[in-house]
Amino acid sequence: MTQFTLHTLTLTLLTSAALAEGGFYGDAPDATHPWAIHDMNRPQPMRVEPGTFSSQEKPGSPPSDAIILFGGKADEIEKWQADKTPAEPTKWEVKDGVLQCVPGSGYIRSKEEFADCQLHLEWSAPSKVEGNSQGRGNSGVFLMGQVEVQVLDNYNNPTYADGFASSIYGINPPMANALHAPGEWQTYDIVFRRPLFKDGQEIDPGYITVFVNGVLTQDHTPLEGGGGHKSRSKARAFPEKGPLKLQDHGNPVRYRNIWYRPLPKRVSEGGEYSRMSEEATTAKRSEIAKSIREDAAKLEGNARMYRLLESLCYADNAPAREAAIRAADEFTAELKSTPQDKLESKKGAALQFHKAMDYLVKFKVLPDDFAPKAAITEIVKAQEWDKKK
Ligand code: MG
Repeated sequence: MTQFTLHTLTLTLLTSAALAEGGFYGDAPDATHPWAIHDMNRPQPMRVEPGTFSSQEKPGSPPSDAIILFGGKADEIEKWQADKTPAEPTKWEVKDGVLQCVPGSGYIRSKEEFADCQLHLEWSAPSKVEGNSQGRGNSGVFLMGQVEVQVLDNYNNPTYADGFASSIYGINPPMANALHAPGEWQTYDIVFRRPLFKDGQEIDPGYITVFVNGVLTQDHTPLEGGGGHKSRSKARAFPEKGPLKLQDHGNPVRYRNIWYRPLPKRVSEGGEYSRMSEEATTAKRSEIAKSIREDAAKLEGNARMYRLLESLCYADNAPAREAAIRAADEFTAELKSTPQDKLESKKGAALQFHKAMDYLVKFKVLPDDFAPKAAITEIVKAQEWDKKK
């Protein structure tokens, strides 16, 4: 057996042991982490069927949970309107599966309103090159209608850096120019987080991350109020949600394959992450403990005892503790009264209990002098089950 195979096998055995025992494995929850390390009580990630990548000839497909703002159908123009008050239909056109800016008709905005998101879109500047600097293939993607990720034909076209394609306009230039030639499709993948304020104070400036044709150009760039033309913006609260706007800057820029996925709340908004506030952690731990106790109520014997003991790692609960201690006392009494020649048949159950006791005392869920812990340790030593064979 090669070293690699042996290592993989050991890992597999360790992992399946952890699964079989359902707990008492990685470091326990603490004041700011509601879950243990490698915690099987932690929810499984939600399933998303991935989409496909685009080629120049053909747009890709979105992931299964994406909300499609423009997928190439003519009637999807209904998802957009002119950015005017009162609202009116847009004069932008859908042709050959592509949404095209009609210069002079004004910005468009999505009827859909949203905030934090993963946004995907593709755009193409006119293949007939006209104008220079900000005048060549200019449009723009306005997240929440508030902050512009610049769309501009900068293939061979210098301009001020903070107005470059995929700049956060008036805030930050892109880290690279990864554009294709005009007429070709450019892909923007954007991660957007709006600014968060509490009691008039900024608690999170909001951020934008951008990939252009797969190349990172904005890395969690703080919004500083959202930027703008000529003026330095100041930190400010954004609305709860807003439309996506696309800019008419006088050039017939084309768009395709526009979709987004809403993002979960940040920890400062009550979202769940590995590390949370002490208050949120306490609340979450209570919730997890309650759900484990409910699960324990459906079980019997040692399975029930282990679930109850496990629940105590998240939050104490007098009835659960009493029932778990009673079960632990009963199990150790049963082992102690088992004749020597029959004890070997209980080795697996005894070692599982020993491991759980060690864990619960180590993480101070049970006191150092917990009687069943002393009892099981004595049995394991006497049987020499702790010695490697
Ligand atoms: Mg623009």
